[in-house]
Amino acid sequence: MAHVVIIGGGFAGVWSAAGAALARAGTDLRITLIAPSEHLVLRPRLYELKPDLATVPLDPILAPIGVEHLRASVSTIDTDRRVVVADGAAIGYDRLVLAAGSELVRPLGLPGAERLFDIDTLNGALRLTDHLRDREDCCVVVVGAGFVGLEAATELAARCQVLLVDQSSVVGEQLGPGPRGEIEAALDSLGVECRLATTVTEVGDGYAVLSDGARVEADAVVWSGGMRASALTRQISDELDHLGRVPVDHWLRALPEVFVAGDTASTAFDAEHTVMQACQHATPMGKVAGYNAAADLLRMPLREFTPGPYVTCLDLGDAGAVFTRGWDRRVMASGAEGKEVKNRINHHIHPPVDDAGKILAAADRVRIELPFFPRPEDEPAPGV
Ligand SMILES: Cc1cc2nc3c(=O)[nH]c(=O)nc-3n(C[C@H](O)[C@H](O)[C@H](O)COP(=O)(O)OP(=O)(O)OC[C@H]3O[C@@H](n4cnc5c(N)ncnc54)[C@H](O)[C@@H]3O)c2cc1C
Repeated sequence: MAHVVIIGGGFAGVWSAAGAALARAGTDLRITLIAPSEHLVLRPRLYELKPDLATVPLDPILAPIGVEHLRASVSTIDTDRRVVVADGAAIGYDRLVLAAGSELVRPLGLPGAERLFDIDTLNGALRLTDHLRDREDCCVVVVGAGFVGLEAATELAARCQVLLVDQSSVVGEQLGPGPRGEIEAALDSLGVECRLATTVTEVGDGYAVLSDGARVEADAVVWSGGMRASALTRQISDELDHLGRVPVDHWLRALPEVFVAGDTASTAFDAEHTVMQACQHATPMGKVAGYNAAADLLRMPLREFTPGPYVTCLDLGDAGAVFTRGWDRRVMASGAEGKEVKNRINHHIHPPVDDAGKILAAADRVRIELPFFPRPEDEPAPGV
C-alpha cells in the first residue's frame, strides 16, 4: 500500500493530513502523521493569559479522516532510501511532507540564558504563566519588539510592569511604518516602557543587565528574538534561505518525493515576497502539500499554491489590536474593532473536529477566507 508520511502536527502538518485524505478519496492510500504531542498547539494564541487553552487534540481531527498518528520525533530523513527514523524506528514513505515548523532563535553565549522565558512553545508559555502566578507588582523585561514580543509585552502589561527592549531604534521594525503609530500609542497607554537600540547582556536572579549598563529589576525576562525553521530542513536541501527554510516550487515540492509546507518552506507569495512564517500561510500550504503528495501517487493533477490577501492582526492587550492588509500593512482596524477581528481569527484557526465532512471541506478551501475582515473601500465583496 502506498504511504504518505507527514512530519509535524502543527497547522501545516494537520492540514497536510487533511489535504492528503481529501485527495485519497476512495483509494487505500495510507497516511501517517508523525508528531511528538497529542495536541495541535495553536502557537498564535500562546501570548494569552491561559496558554493551556491554545491546544486542540489531534485524535478528533485525524481519526475521522483515517489518518494514523505516530507519537514520535523524527531525527533522520533518508531521501535516497525514502525512510524516516522516528524514535529509533525506520518508517518507509512513498511521498513525504516535511512540516516540522520553526523554533525560537535563542541567544548564543548570553550569561544567564538558562533563566530566559519564552512563549514559543506550549511548555514555554505555561512555564512563564506558572512563574508569574500570584506575584504582585511583578516586573518583566521582554526582549524583542517584533510581532511576538509586542503581543507578549502588551498582554503582560495587564498584570506586570513591562520593559520592552529591542536592538532596533523603532518598535515593530519588520512590520514597517504602517501600524507603528497604533503600536506606539498602545504601548504608551498601557504604560509599557521601551528601551530601544538596546539589548540584554546578562540575566540574573531577579534582574537583567542592559547593553547601556543599566541593571533593571526583572522577575522574568521573556526572549522573543525571532524564529528559524526546524533543523530537519538541512536533510532536504543545502540551499536554505535566511530563515532556514527549504525552497519549494508552486506545488510545494522540494524533491521528486518530498513536499514541504509551513514554517519549513519558502515559496513565492508574489513577484516581490516569499510567504511568511505565519499560520495564515502554513494552513493553506499544508492543504496543498498534503493534497499534492497524495495526488502525485494517485496520478492526479497537482494543485498550485495561490495565497490569498496578506493580512496581519497584532494583539495589543487592553489597548485592542491592529489589523492590517497588504505588504505595506495598511491599518484597516484598530482598538476595539481590531480586537474583534483578532478574536475572530483566534477562533477561526481552530480546525473542525469529529466531523470528516467538515474537515475535508475545509481542506478543499485553499485560499484564505476573509469574510469577517474589513475590506478596503476599493475592493469588491466576494462574489461581486
Ligand atoms: C506567540 C506567537 C504568536 C504568533 N502569532 C501569529 C499570528 O498572529 N498570525 C500568524 O499567522 N502566525 C503567528 N505565529 C506564527 C505561527 O504560529 C506559525 O507560523 C505556525 O505555527 C507555523 O505552523 P507549522 O505547522 O509550520 O509549524 P509549528 O506550528 O511550529 O508546528 C510544527 C510541528 O512539528 C512538530 N515537530 C517539530 N519537530 C519535529 C520532529 N523532529 N519530528 C516530528 N515532529 C516534529 C512539532 O511538534 C509541531 O507539531 C505566531 C507564533 C508565535 C510563537
